Amino acid sequence: MEGVAIAGSYDLAIIGGGPGGYAAALYAAAAGLSVAVVEEDKVGGTCLHRGCVPAKELLETAAVYRTVASAADFGILAAVEKLDFSQSQRRKQAVVDQLHRGLTGLMRKRGIEIISSHGRLDAKRRVVLSDGSVLDASNVILAAGSVPRSIPGFEIDGEVVLTSDEVLSLGEIPQSVAVIGGGAIGCEFASMFADLGSKVTLVEVMPRLLPGCDGEVSDVLARSFRRRGMEVVLGTGVEGHTPSGSGTTIRLTSGREVEVEKVVISVGRRPRSEGLVDPASGVRVDSKGFVEVDAYMRTGVPGVWAIGDLVGTPALAHVGFAEAIVAVRDMLKEPVVPVDYGKVPWCIYCRPEVAFSGMTEDQAREAGFEVVVAKDGLGGNSRARILGETEGMLKLIAEKPGPGRSGRVLGVHLVGPWATELLGQGYLAVNWEATPAEIAQFIQPHPTLSETFGEVALALSGRGLHIG
Ligand code: FAD
Repeated sequence: MEGVAIAGSYDLAIIGGGPGGYAAALYAAAAGLSVAVVEEDKVGGTCLHRGCVPAKELLETAAVYRTVASAADFGILAAVEKLDFSQSQRRKQAVVDQLHRGLTGLMRKRGIEIISSHGRLDAKRRVVLSDGSVLDASNVILAAGSVPRSIPGFEIDGEVVLTSDEVLSLGEIPQSVAVIGGGAIGCEFASMFADLGSKVTLVEVMPRLLPGCDGEVSDVLARSFRRRGMEVVLGTGVEGHTPSGSGTTIRLTSGREVEVEKVVISVGRRPRSEGLVDPASGVRVDSKGFVEVDAYMRTGVPGVWAIGDLVGTPALAHVGFAEAIVAVRDMLKEPVVPVDYGKVPWCIYCRPEVAFSGMTEDQAREAGFEVVVAKDGLGGNSRARILGETEGMLKLIAEKPGPGRSGRVLGVHLVGPWATELLGQGYLAVNWEATPAEIAQFIQPHPTLSETFGEVALALSGRGLHIG
C-alpha cells in the first residue's frame, strides 16, 4: 500500500451504519473481531433517522389523538382542543435522539470505531475514505442502504411534493394530501394523515393496497380506510401535476384531477450503489442498482459481503439484521442458515395494522399446494370489543393433511388492532412448520386478541369452539 495513508487496520470494515451495518458491527465485535463502521451521516441509518422509528412515533401521535377523540365513548369527557404538531415533532426527535445516543454508546462500548466519512470500495477491494486514506481490513461488508425513489413528472421539491424524508419533518399537518403508492409506507402515512385531520387521497397503480399481501387482508384494509373517509383510488396511476398558489393539482391516468396541498411520493426505494464500488473490484451491481449476492450475502469477491437495502431482498430493518448475522457467521466460517425470505415477518403500522408471514392463499395455490384455509373476524373477540376495535381478520393457510403431508401452516395473515405485536406466534408457526392441530393444543390467555389465533387453528384442526 505504498503512497497511501492507512487510516487503521481492522478485521472488518463496514460501509454504512444503518440497521444492516450496525448489526454486523455489533455481532462481529461480540465475536471478538476488530471493527470499523464508515458512516457519512449518523449511525442508525434510514431506520432510526428517516424511517421505522420516526414514522412509528408519529403514528403513535395519531393513536393518542384517536384515543382522546373517542374518550367520550368510555365516559371520559375530554376533547381534542388542538393538535400542536411541533410538539409531536419534538417528542419524535427526543425518541430518535435517545435511541441514537444508546446505539452510539453500545457501539463504542464494544470497541467499534465509527469513522465519520464517505466510503467506497476501490479496484483493489480497499475501503477508501473521503480524504483518500484507506482502511486496512481483511473483510468488508457493504451496507450503504437506500434512498426514496421518485416518479417522472413529480420533482421532489420538499415543499409541495414530498418523500418520506420530508414528511417526517413536516411542521404542520396539511389540510389535504395525495399519497402516491399504496405500499407499506404509503398506507402508514395515509393512515396517520387521516387520523390527524387531513383529507387523504391514496392512489395505487395495482388493483389492491399492499401488493404482495393476502388479497382478503388488503380488502379489509381498503374498506376500513374508506369508512374513515379516505379516498382510495386503486388500479390508477398518476401522470403529473400542476402547482397552484397553495398546493397542486395532480392528474390521474383515469383523466381525473385532484387538488391537494401536498403530494407524498411513496413508490419504493432505490439502493445507494452509485459510486460505491469500483467495477474493477469485481463486485457486480444489477440493472436496478442492487449489489448482487448469494444466499450467504457473498458478493462473489473473496472477503466482500453486501447486506440490507443495498441488495435485492425485502427492504426491512430486521431483514438487514438477519443478513448481517449470516454475513458475519459466513466470514467466521461458522455454520449458518441463510435467510428464508418467503417467511420473514412483515408489519405495517397503519390503522388497522397489518402483519403477515409466509404465503398468501394465492401464492400457496400457485405453488401447487392443496390448501385449507380458516379465518375469523374480531367481532366475537372479547378484547377487541373491550378496545372498541373489532375491525379486522385473522387468516391461517395450511397444507391439506394427507399421506406424506403433515398439514403444516404455510401462511398467517392478520389485520386489526395490535396485529404487529400478535404476529410473533404466527411467525413461529410458519417457520417451525407447525400444524394447526399442534398450535391448537396451546392455551391462549383470555381475554386477549391472540385468542383468535388459537380459535382459527382449532377450527382448521377440525373442531372449532366458537368458529368453524
Ligand atoms: P440504511 O438504513 O439506509 O442505512 C445505510 C447507511 O449507510 C446510512 O446511514 C447512510 O448514511 C450510510 N451510507 C450510505 N452510503 C454511504 C457511503 N458511501 N459511505 C458512508 N456511509 C454511507 N423497516 C422495517 O423493518 N420496519 C418498519 O416499520 C419500517 N418502516 C419504514 C418507514 C419508512 C418511512 C422508511 C423510509 C423505511 C422503513 N423501513 C422499515 C425500512 C428500513 O428503514 C430499511 O429497510 C433499513 O433502514 C435498511 O437498513 P440498511 O442498513 O440496509 O440501510
